[in-house]
Amino acid sequence: MSAQVIDGKAFAAGIRDKVAAHVARLTADHGITPGLAVVLVGEDPASQVYVRSKGKQTVEVGMNSYEHKLDAATSEADLLALIARLNADPAVHGILVQLPLPKHLDADLVINAIDPAKDVDGFHISNVGLLGTGQKAMVPCTPLGSLMMLRDHLGSLSGLDAVVIGRSNIVGKPMAQLLLGDSCTVTIAHSRTKDLPAVVRRADIVVAAVGRPEMVTGDWIRPGATVIDVGINRIERDGKTVLVGDCHYDSCAAVAGAITPVPGGVGPMTIACLLANTLTACCRANGLAEPEGLTA
Ligand code: NDP
Repeated sequence: MSAQVIDGKAFAAGIRDKVAAHVARLTADHGITPGLAVVLVGEDPASQVYVRSKGKQTVEVGMNSYEHKLDAATSEADLLALIARLNADPAVHGILVQLPLPKHLDADLVINAIDPAKDVDGFHISNVGLLGTGQKAMVPCTPLGSLMMLRDHLGSLSGLDAVVIGRSNIVGKPMAQLLLGDSCTVTIAHSRTKDLPAVVRRADIVVAAVGRPEMVTGDWIRPGATVIDVGINRIERDGKTVLVGDCHYDSCAAVAGAITPVPGGVGPMTIACLLANTLTACCRANGLAEPEGLTA
């Protein structure tokens, strides 16, 4: 068997098109343009690349992008004051603080200072609680994108066995909540899980969010299972730096029914879902109908 490739790049382009069309209608009919503020503290090169890419895609779908680049030595008080200003600014519908923050800043304190209605990353404790109790929340972008791809590929997820490898607050835990919300039977595996290959072999859906290059191999995969590879790992191979996922692509693709590649799978979905969340936040803030198919 050779797995169907789930093309995240094409899927993400479709989401951006939907967002752009909805934004154009909002602006034309209501004179409202969604705005996303991105706050970057310090000069981490990977974060700079992400922030540039977010800003560019925000503008491309017709939204306003506000970038706030702060010095690495910025005090917590100054950062919190900026967040308070963005919370109060009616032109800003989404606020994202790029992580990781420099060590002297308390990331939990900073994230929890964002107005939950503008928390487009879905990391605020209120949104975590809303998602956990099945209420309308802002949902973290990477798990949301993974869920969209699963729904698109499988239709109903009800009753399927899902194994999520990884229990981070950013990916693993919200992914498990979303799958539970879609009535999967969910197992969350982590570094202490006993006989991980046997646990994974039970799954109709495998979501790997570990950060270990090519850890999941084809002999762990149940024939026909759907594999969502969240991992992004840079490794040296044949003298070149290459990106690989947490799944060994060739051996998993030989057994799975469908699989997301790395790059070009979950990665592009994350920013597309950030734009979708910003649009959703803007519609909610203005009491307007939310876009269909762009939320959990
Ligand atoms: P974290 O490091 O926060 O979490 C990793 C999780 O994997 C932990 O729960 C850890 O378990 C578990 N783990 C580590 N080693 C093993 C092992 N040997 N067996 C089983 N479980 C293990 O990572 P993130 O969740 O932030 O990210 C995971 C991956 O996803 C990374 O490669 C990251 O780059 C990528 N990523 C991709 C995104 C995208 O846009 N596509 C966005 C965000 C992340 P324990 O809790 O026991 O330590």
